[in-house]
Amino acid sequence: METAKINLTVVSDGKPNALKPPVDESTLAHKHVVRGPFWQKIPAYAAVTETEFLDHKWQAKHTITNVAKLMAALGSFASPEFLEDARRGFEKAPMSVRVSPYLLSLIDWANPYTDPLRRQFIPVASRLLPDHPKLGLDSLHERADMPVEGLTHRYVDKALFLALDTCPVYCRFCTRSYAVGIDTDEVEKFHLKVNAERWQRAFTYVSSRNELEDIVISGGDAYQLRAEQIAEIGEALLAIPHVKRMRFATKGPAVMPQKILTDEPWCDALTRVVENGRKQHKEVVLHTHFNHPNEITGITEAAMNKLFERGITVRNQSVLQRGVNDDKDVMKLLIKRLGHVNVHPYYVYQHDLVQGVEDLRTTVQTALDIEKYVRGSTAGFNTPTFVVDAPGGGGKRDAHSYEHYDRNSGISVYTAPSVKKGFFLYFDPVDTLPVDYQRRWADPKEQQAMVDDAINQAQPQQR
Ligand SMILES: *Cc1c(COP(=O)(O)O)cnc(C)c1O
Ligand code: SF4
Repeated sequence: METAKINLTVVSDGKPNALKPPVDESTLAHKHVVRGPFWQKIPAYAAVTETEFLDHKWQAKHTITNVAKLMAALGSFASPEFLEDARRGFEKAPMSVRVSPYLLSLIDWANPYTDPLRRQFIPVASRLLPDHPKLGLDSLHERADMPVEGLTHRYVDKALFLALDTCPVYCRFCTRSYAVGIDTDEVEKFHLKVNAERWQRAFTYVSSRNELEDIVISGGDAYQLRAEQIAEIGEALLAIPHVKRMRFATKGPAVMPQKILTDEPWCDALTRVVENGRKQHKEVVLHTHFNHPNEITGITEAAMNKLFERGITVRNQSVLQRGVNDDKDVMKLLIKRLGHVNVHPYYVYQHDLVQGVEDLRTTVQTALDIEKYVRGSTAGFNTPTFVVDAPGGGGKRDAHSYEHYDRNSGISVYTAPSVKKGFFLYFDPVDTLPVDYQRRWADPKEQQAMVDDAINQAQPQQR
């Protein structure tokens, strides 16, 4: 009997001959995450056992909150010149210092200037750039859209609830540096403490607005909420009939995955809210914030596996940062690795105009180029949308959807017909522009001329 003809011909080594040659094993790097006691190379953690290192209380207790502690942990592991540069960097920084031992152990201290994790959390004075002339604190106008203190209602059907103002670590690039962290020499902040009455006012507002279906619980960071507080917020919002979706936002999995593995009350409280929501046909998920593939380790994998087993969806929002993830292969590796640990890449944000971090911002063109490269490398639902949250409160826009983008002045113009009238402008960092345009940005009259020109060019698209 003749066997059915199939499309695979067997070649001499016995393997089926497919149309494409197999990929080089190095392109599967997303599967190879750091394992073993990597922290023991840091002098202060040389004798720290795995049990200690996985204990979230140990992580919190040994978190670095000032330069003296940084020096004590590193000893001679980092050069004195670098540490002095960091000391001066912290002095000038608008953001407080907070780095977990886990993060500290993932930094390559032989090359601290180029290390992508160091760049995000530890400022160095020698690399700071002047702020963009168009930059203001709270560039997203979150406070202007707050009907109740700590609740931003900008979009029709969703709102952002800022439950508290602390985080497990402090990121240099934080959009909410106007509120998050302790006051620094540079900035006196607008505080949002845990406060039962303020929370109640926010819940009352949400229940008074039938159109609100989706609540983001952020801050600060949901990791800092106690288990009872997770339950309190979760149940209060689930009890509102029109609330259908909730997201707890936390950077935790990226900076201290240990908590998911060893803080049972917290993890159980979250699981209960997710399960109660599911019974009511409401979606409760975790939104997190990984920016670089090095932030995903064997510990992260174990933590994400635990959440996956409990049926908890985790989505990721990254911030595009110069020298961190503004490289197409780094971004591709990040996205593939997130998929590998069952985290859905949701957004990549253009870096907001935030004080003191011009060295981390990059151009809209960079976002467009990286998006083009990444799309097609993995599942569509694991391919993030690149967005610009343009100053002025227009909300997040697809980076490609600008009405006008002048690569010379670095101005992109967006509109947001379902959110707010007007034009929303984003500004590429001045140091990336042609020299003659850098000169124009130094002159306030020229600044206005460039802005007017960009808006005029955008107008015809609007008619
Ligand atoms: C980002 C954000 C949301 C959520 O927006 P999605 O695009 O649905 O993720 C809601 N409110 C505010 C103020 C936000 O900044
Ligand atoms: S964890 Fe989030 S809110 Fe906290 S400092 Fe970092 S970016 Fe800001």
